[in-house]
Amino acid sequence: MKIKVARTSGFCYGVRRAVNLAFEEAIHGDNLYTLGELIHNPQVLEILKQRGVRIAKKIEDIPESATVIIRSHGVTPQAKAALRNRSLKIIDATCPKVARVQQLAERAVRLGMHVILFGDSEHSEVKAIAAHAEGRTSIVKDRKELDAVISTIPTSDKISFMAQTTQNIALWKELVTHLLALRPDAEIYETICGATDERQNEVRRLAREVDALVIVGGFQSANTQRLVEISKNEGIPAFQVETEADLPRKELARFETVGVAAGASTPSWMIRRILHSLDVTVAVKPSFLLFLLEFWRFIVRSNILVAFGAAQLLYAASRLQGIEPELPYQIIVAAYIFAMHLLNHFTDRFTTEINYPARVGFYERFRRLLLTLGIVATASSLVFAYFLGPLAFIIIFAMSLLGLVYRMELFKIGRVGPRRLMDIPGSKDLFLGMAWTVIIALLVVPASGSRFTPATGIAAFFVFSLAFTRSLVYSIRDVQGDRMVGRETVAVLVGESRTRRLGAFVLALSACSMVFSFILGWTSAVSLFLIVNLVYAFIALWLTRSESNYSDVFFETIVEGNLVLSQLAAWFVHLSGLA
Ligand code: SF4
Repeated sequence: MKIKVARTSGFCYGVRRAVNLAFEEAIHGDNLYTLGELIHNPQVLEILKQRGVRIAKKIEDIPESATVIIRSHGVTPQAKAALRNRSLKIIDATCPKVARVQQLAERAVRLGMHVILFGDSEHSEVKAIAAHAEGRTSIVKDRKELDAVISTIPTSDKISFMAQTTQNIALWKELVTHLLALRPDAEIYETICGATDERQNEVRRLAREVDALVIVGGFQSANTQRLVEISKNEGIPAFQVETEADLPRKELARFETVGVAAGASTPSWMIRRILHSLDVTVAVKPSFLLFLLEFWRFIVRSNILVAFGAAQLLYAASRLQGIEPELPYQIIVAAYIFAMHLLNHFTDRFTTEINYPARVGFYERFRRLLLTLGIVATASSLVFAYFLGPLAFIIIFAMSLLGLVYRMELFKIGRVGPRRLMDIPGSKDLFLGMAWTVIIALLVVPASGSRFTPATGIAAFFVFSLAFTRSLVYSIRDVQGDRMVGRETVAVLVGESRTRRLGAFVLALSACSMVFSFILGWTSAVSLFLIVNLVYAFIALWLTRSESNYSDVFFETIVEGNLVLSQLAAWFVHLSGLA
C-alpha cells in the first residue's frame, strides 16, 4: 500500500491562535474556562484539561473572577454582553475571519438587507453570525432551502449572501450562481476561509490520485466532516479517524494507494502519529533500496547523523580560526553530541511520543544498543578530553553535567516560575546554541594550545548562529506538540513568525561578521565561503513556513546536511589554497 499525504495540514490560523492563547493563559493562572469546547478535537481538549483549562457549557457555570476564553467560532453579542456584566477576565479568541463575517452580517442588517447564510444551523459559528444579524437571517444548507427562502423575500428587499467559514466551496459556488440568476442585485461575500478552501482542494486533488482517503480530525469537527463529505462526493471511500486507534486497518489493506488529509483543528503531531501507524501497517517487499533506506533511518534516528555533522562543523570552525582541525577534537564533539541527544530522547519520552511517534518504537527496539553506545560515547569524550589537557577535560565534564541537570528540579521562582533549567522560556534553543558554541568553537583553542583571537569570536558566533537556528527550525516544526507537553522553546514563547525573523536576524548578523572579519584580516577567505551555510540555514528556516508533512528522516537529513556542507566548504577553500 502506498501512502500519499495532503500538503496542507495542522492547525489553521484561527485554531492555532485560540489554542496558543489557552496554553499561555494556563501558565499564569488556574481559574481558566472556555465557553464551550475550545476546538473540536478531544485529544487537544484532554491535554488542555490536564493544564487546568475547564469547559463551561453555560455562562452561569463560570465562577466569579475567573478567566474565560471565547473560542474561535465566536459567540452571540448577547453572550458577550452577559460575560462583560460579570467580573470575569475575557480573552476573545474569535478567529478574525469569523469576526469579519459577523461584522458583514451586522452591516448588512444596518443597511436594511436580508442576510442569507449558507451553513449548518446547529453550528455555534452560524448561530453567532445569525445573532449578529439580529434575527434578519435565513440559514440555508442547499439549493432547495435557498429557493424556499428567496421566494419569501420581496424583490424590493436586497439580499446579502455569505457562508459559514468552513462550508463546502464547490456547493457555495453553485448556490451563488443560482442566486445571481434569480436575484442579480444580491450582494455576495466570499467568506469561506482560505484554510478551508485549501484543505478541500487538496482532498479533491488527492481523491483523483488514491483509492481511499483517511481524514484525520475530531468527530464533531465541521470542517473535518466536510472533507469526508467531499471525498465521498468525489466517489472514493473515506474513513474519518480521531486517533491511530480508529484506523480501519483491515479495510485499508484492500487499497493500493491511500491518501491522508486532516481538518483544520487537527494538530500536526496527531497527523504524524497516524502516518507512523499507517507506515507500520504497510507491508513492503524486501529490496536493496529498502535496506539502504532502513540503514539511513538508523543513522538519522540514532543521532549518528547529527553527531557526525557536529564534527564536520568543528572542522569548519577550526579552519575559520586558523587552527588545524584534528581527529581527536572531532571525536570528542561527535561523542558528546551523540550522548546528549540520546539522553534527551530517553529522558523526555512524552515529547518524543508526541512529536516523533516513529522514534518511540525505534528507541525501544534498539534500547540496549543505544544506551551502551551512549555510555561509551560519554566515556570516550571525557577520556579524549583528558588527554588533550585539563581545560578541555573541565569543559567537557561541565557540559556533560549541564546536559544532565538540564531536566532536574533545581530552584523555584514564585508560584509557577521555573523549577528546572528547561522551564526557563526559550531555554531549549538558547542552551543548545551555547553548548554547541562552547564545545565546537571554543574547546579547540585550549586543546590545540592556541590563543583566543578575534577570529575565535567570529567562529563562536558562526557556530552559535548555525546551532541556534538549527534548533529554531525544529522548534517551529514541533511547536504544536511542544506547546502540549510544556516544552519551553523560542517558538512556543514568541510564535513561529517571530522565531523565523529572529533566526534570520541572527544569520544576517553572522554573515556580516564573516565579511567584516575578512576585510579586517581577522579570518581568511574561508569566512566568505562559509556564508553559504548561513544561506542554507536561512532556506531551512524559510521552509518551515510550508505546512508540508515531511517525514522525520527526510526533514533531519535536509537540516543536518548543512553541518556536513560546512566541512565541505572549509575543505574546498583549504585544498584550493585560498586560505
Ligand atoms: S478555518 Fe479559517 S475561519 Fe475557521 S478558525 Fe480556521 S482560520 Fe479561522
